[in-house]
Formats: sequence, C-alpha cells, structure tokens
Amino acid sequence: MKQTLLFAPTLRDMPKEAEVISHKILLRGGYIKQTAAGVYVYMPLGYKVIKKVENIIREELDKIGCNELLMPTLQGKDLWVESGRWENYGKELMRIKDRHDREFCLGPTHEEVITSIVRDYITSYKKLPVALYQIQTKFRDEFRPRFGLMRGREFIMKDLYTFSSTYEDLDEWYLKIRQAYINILTRCELNFRIVNACSGNIGGNSSEEFMVLCDIGEDTIVYSDSSDFASNIEVVDYPDGAPSPDGKGTIKHAKGIEAGHIFKLGTKYSEPMKATFIDKDGKTKPIIMGCYGIGVSRLLMAVLEQHYNNDRAVWPKELSPFDIHVIPLDKEGTENYNIALNIYNELTKQGYDVLFDDRNESAGVKFKDADLIGCRNRIIVGKKANEGIIELKDMLNNNSSELNVNEIINRKYE
Ligand code: ATP
Ligand code: MG
Repeated sequence: MKQTLLFAPTLRDMPKEAEVISHKILLRGGYIKQTAAGVYVYMPLGYKVIKKVENIIREELDKIGCNELLMPTLQGKDLWVESGRWENYGKELMRIKDRHDREFCLGPTHEEVITSIVRDYITSYKKLPVALYQIQTKFRDEFRPRFGLMRGREFIMKDLYTFSSTYEDLDEWYLKIRQAYINILTRCELNFRIVNACSGNIGGNSSEEFMVLCDIGEDTIVYSDSSDFASNIEVVDYPDGAPSPDGKGTIKHAKGIEAGHIFKLGTKYSEPMKATFIDKDGKTKPIIMGCYGIGVSRLLMAVLEQHYNNDRAVWPKELSPFDIHVIPLDKEGTENYNIALNIYNELTKQGYDVLFDDRNESAGVKFKDADLIGCRNRIIVGKKANEGIIELKDMLNNNSSELNVNEIINRKYE
C-alpha cells in the first residue's frame, strides 16, 4: 500500500490518558481512537491487526471441527430470565428497551442464545457433539473501564460453545480447545501461563485462564517455580515463598493479563433452559456444555506489552499490519525513488504486504511514523541506492545490513 493512501493519523505527542505502553503505542500509531469511556474505534491499522488475530483463531478452531456463526448482539430478556441471569448478572449487563417497552440486553456473552439455538435443532445423541463459535462485539458496563482495549465496555471477543452427550466427550473437547488456545497464543508470540480459575458470572464447575505474563496485568498468578502448578490467586492464596502444594518447588507470584478463559459448564444452562437430547438408552438428558472465550481486542494490548523496543511497537510476524516497510529518502521522480518503487512492486508481487512511504516528507518524519507503525522489516532506500547499497533494518534487534537490489528482492522476510 502507498502511504499517501493510508489513513493512520499518528500523534507526535504522548497522549495524556494513556498510562501503559501498549495503550500509548496504539494511540500514537493511529491504531485506535476513543469515542467514549471504554469505547474505541479500531482505525485501519488497528483493524488490520485485529483481523490477523481473528484469522489465526479461525484457522486453529476450524482445524478441530468448530463451526463459525454470528449471533445477534441484541438479546431478548426472556432467555435471560430462563437462565436466571436477568436477575443475577448485575450492573455489567447493558439493558435497553424498545419502543414498545420490551426489554433487551446487549450481549456480554452468549450462553443463553446459543443454548436456545441448539435446543431447537438437536434432539438426539446422534447429532452430538457440536462446537459453535463466533467473533463478535460484546458489551459490559464495566465499573472501571481502563487501559484502552484492556477493559472496554464494548470489545471484541471470540466465544465458543461445545455441546456433548457425555462428560468424557466434554473432557475431550476441553483438551482439544485448550491445545488450540495454546497454538493461538503461541502464534501471537506471547509468553503465557495456564492457571486454575474461578468461574465468575459464567458459572460451571471448573475453568482455566490463559494469563499473559506482564507487570500491568490485573490478575495475580500463584505458580510453582519448578512444576506446572499455577492458579489465579482468587482460587488459592499461597504466599510467595511457600512450598508448592504439589510438593514440587516454591510458590512465586506474578501479574497476568487474562487473554482467554475456558470452562466446563456441564448442565448449568441446559438444565434450566431445557436443552435436552434423547440418549442411546432412550432417556431424556440435559446437554453437557463447555464455553471458551478469547479477548480479541484485549490481545492487541497484551501482545504490545510484550513486543516493544524503546517505546516502539515491533509486532510479531503474524500480526504485523505490514510485512515490510519500504522507505525512499529521495523525492518522487529521482533515480533512487524509482529503485525503491521497483523494490515495492517486486516484493508486493511475491505476496508480501508492503507499505511504501511515497509521501513528500523529510527522512525524520518518515522514520518517526515508521517507528509508530512498528513493522519489523524496514528497507531504507537512501543516497547510495544507485551505487547498489540499500539498508535493511530488523527493528526487533536493531540489526542493520547493506544489500543490493537483487539481494533485497530475493531474500525471505520473516
Ligand atoms: P475479567 O476477569 O478480565 O473481567 P472475565 O472473566 O469477565 O474477564 P470472560 O467472561 O471469561 O472474562 O470473557 C472472556 C475473555 O474476554 C476474557 O478472558 C478477556 O480476555 C476478555 N474480556 C473480558 N472482559 C473484557 C473487557 N471488559 N474488555 C476487553 N476484553 C474483555
Ligand atoms: Mg469481567
């Protein structure tokens, strides 16, 4: 893409409202824009990264046989009364009335809707299991929206629900999805830990959270320094330095950002909502459910908290808004500019997503904006380009190398 066509209004000054580095980067880079407390526009660059996260999620879930659908945001009160949550959910639920005074909420999560869909179509064990997911905007009237996309009142979540006829089958799905989550967070190049968790407003008997390790995280993780034991402090309160309960190693504390949460719901929704099936033995039983969420918009911030270099974003390979940023330093019409244009065209032809800085700006402005955009690979076509010397900069480790046009065009970019 030519940069003259890119709508990415970068900010020169540090925005005052941003307290954490990921939020600063997103605001300064023109990735997001706030419109109300906890409500954000995903600007073109931000939306590009969101779509990349979504596609990683889709690939990993489709691979294990999950079906994507899209449910309505607007949910009638009736279903919530059936599940008992109209009363119990509390003030986080955004409730509204239509012109006839009928009550609705804006979905904070979709157990009620998905359970009502499945109960209408599935009557026999022969049609089970089934796994359904969506990537959708959720609404929660958080008491304290903060840190940009970290705790929004309107945010993007991937929510997935499984329906099984046996607890063994639920266990199998749970493990498959747990592994898919590991794959997703690994592809986002996150350092994370899976911890035992409280089930909160969603309910059920057991759940685990995927915690991205990071000092600004709102959750405290209690973990063993020499085994897999790890738990949210809300579940167990072992002091730092205590022996680990599994007998292996010592307890340590760390902060984490909750990126995902997986639950074995059992029959918490299917029982009150009468989502039943006829089993092999001819008996009518409630369907056994699991539910699994990932905070898609929150992930952007979690990723940036672990991927920056001197206040600059350096996006992980699969999430970078562009693969390569080509920056000519000479003006349009010059020989060096045309060399850069040729590199841009060649790399684009090879399938790379390349950003070409065709603006009539000084080198200083171009570099500043390039820092804010945060592509890992930067090709700088400067004064010596016509002597066959072009600079390739890896922004992750600040490595620079000088290559000729052929080498620039024919190498592989990570
Ligand atoms: P938290 O404890 O952070 O409030 P939660 O337990 O309420 O999270 P879930 O209901 O399990 O969250 O939602 C699934 C995922 O959605 C979470 O793991 C998180 O990544 C994301 N999420 C939840 N609330 C928000 C929010 N207000 N803004 C952005 N993402 C959110
Ligand atoms: Mg919450």
